[in-house]
Amino acid sequence: MGTGMFDYAPAPESRAIVDIAPSYGLFIGGEMVDPTDGTRFKTVNPATEEVLSEVVAAGPQDVDRAVAAARAAYDGTWSRLPGRERGKYLYRLARLVQERSRELAVLESIDNGKPIRESRDVDVPLVAAHFFYYAGWADKLGYAGFGPDPRPLGVAGQVIPWNFPLLMLAWKIAPALATGNTVVLKPAETTPLTALAFADICRQADLPPGVVNIVTGAGDTGRALVEHPGVDKVAFTGSTDVGRQIARSVAGTRKKLTLELGGKAANIVFDDAPLDQAVEGIVNGIFFNQGHVCCAGSRLLAQESIADELLDRLKRRLGTLRLGDPLDKNTDIGAINSPEQLERIRELSAVGEQEGAERWSPACDLPDRGYWFPPTLFTGVTQAHRIAREEIFGPVLSVLTFRTPAEALEKANNTPYGLSAGVWTDKGSRILWMAQRLRAGVVWANTFNRFDPTSPFGGYKESGFGREGGRHGLEGYLDV
Ligand code: NAD
Ligand code: MG
Repeated sequence: MGTGMFDYAPAPESRAIVDIAPSYGLFIGGEMVDPTDGTRFKTVNPATEEVLSEVVAAGPQDVDRAVAAARAAYDGTWSRLPGRERGKYLYRLARLVQERSRELAVLESIDNGKPIRESRDVDVPLVAAHFFYYAGWADKLGYAGFGPDPRPLGVAGQVIPWNFPLLMLAWKIAPALATGNTVVLKPAETTPLTALAFADICRQADLPPGVVNIVTGAGDTGRALVEHPGVDKVAFTGSTDVGRQIARSVAGTRKKLTLELGGKAANIVFDDAPLDQAVEGIVNGIFFNQGHVCCAGSRLLAQESIADELLDRLKRRLGTLRLGDPLDKNTDIGAINSPEQLERIRELSAVGEQEGAERWSPACDLPDRGYWFPPTLFTGVTQAHRIAREEIFGPVLSVLTFRTPAEALEKANNTPYGLSAGVWTDKGSRILWMAQRLRAGVVWANTFNRFDPTSPFGGYKESGFGREGGRHGLEGYLDV
């Protein structure tokens, strides 16, 4: 891109390691089966628009079969197994993910558009880590703080988004199985392939049939699943709009619900912060995964006295980012996941300009085919601007300034969301002062977008409720 000092030779990861079938069925009762009332649709590589495969849009009868399979597995085997036996299966799943990590990373990058560096170094290792972590809890639930013998709920219906397809699957399936539930999971319509690969891993692990069921499809399939009367627990990650619909449909039923929705996180840089480190944190905060991250640091709050200097350094750094082939190991910014998402990003960015903010991107060639958006920042943004309030879910940063810690706090909390925040300062006392007052589920200090299976993650306000990860993540799957 643009001002690079020298060009890197391409270093493409081979895609020969993945074997994508021309079409897939549904994973129900331990087998890949043809749909009963479902139809088929194509899934494409967002970096090339090449058709990758055909998958099923499961219909209501398909969903019904999957829920019945999950119920039979719950009653027949899974809920009766001692925790240490469930734990063995989870360890096996974790090890198989590690063994097949290269294949899974390549497949994820092809289906989602994210850089191989991220799928290889972040997504897939965290997937394995989640299974290892929850495997450890399976026989220790009596020590988790929920009573001596906490019971599972039954069948979990789980709907996940396209931004971290396999990682969100792990966040959903690992704690559900560890606690003795069985699951029906629906991946997002644009990223079904790693969930189907995981179905194969379940077979390889000899997981009892029906403990994990995967039904592909879009919103209608998701709705049929969360509204199914045979589901005891609903777990959803995605947009606030759909989260609201789900909350309404689940209200008044006995179903337990956890929602992980959007965000509009503030990344707050004080005048005593190490600026070069802060620049790296800002870049990681909003350009990691093309900004398709619910906890992305999409609002930069810079203290006025250092704002110009920080912006200079940030722009210089953005000029060195490499956008292009997700399978190239040098790539920093991959493809936007879908034409719909690209349209949303374009639309909100246009609104930013119309409302008077100033738009800047480094010089940057976009590939001819596929869905792409350059790293972009907006200065002159006020709190009233839509780009400061709404989740863009793309590589777009809104820059605001502040003078005092109180003003930073006020601006950071002035959002309907409350998922995450970042604080950059040399002073430990200021970190603690901010962390106590920020209404955000996660507050990172002098870092951003750090994830660990032991650490709970979740939101306040319109970012949802319930926590995933850590001991806290067990609660949503237990009858407590
Ligand atoms: P979405 O909420 O429509 O989709 C998320 C998942 O929910 C997908 O699997 C989808 O098929 C399913 N779904 C859709 N409608 C449903 C319904 N009525 N009932 C049950 N399941 C349903 O999200 P999107 O359309 O892909 O993205 C829209 C916006 O949502 C993005 O621009 C972004 O702002 C936000 N988003 C947030 C996250 C997050 O991690 N919090 C993830 C994806 C998208
Ligand atoms: Mg949608």
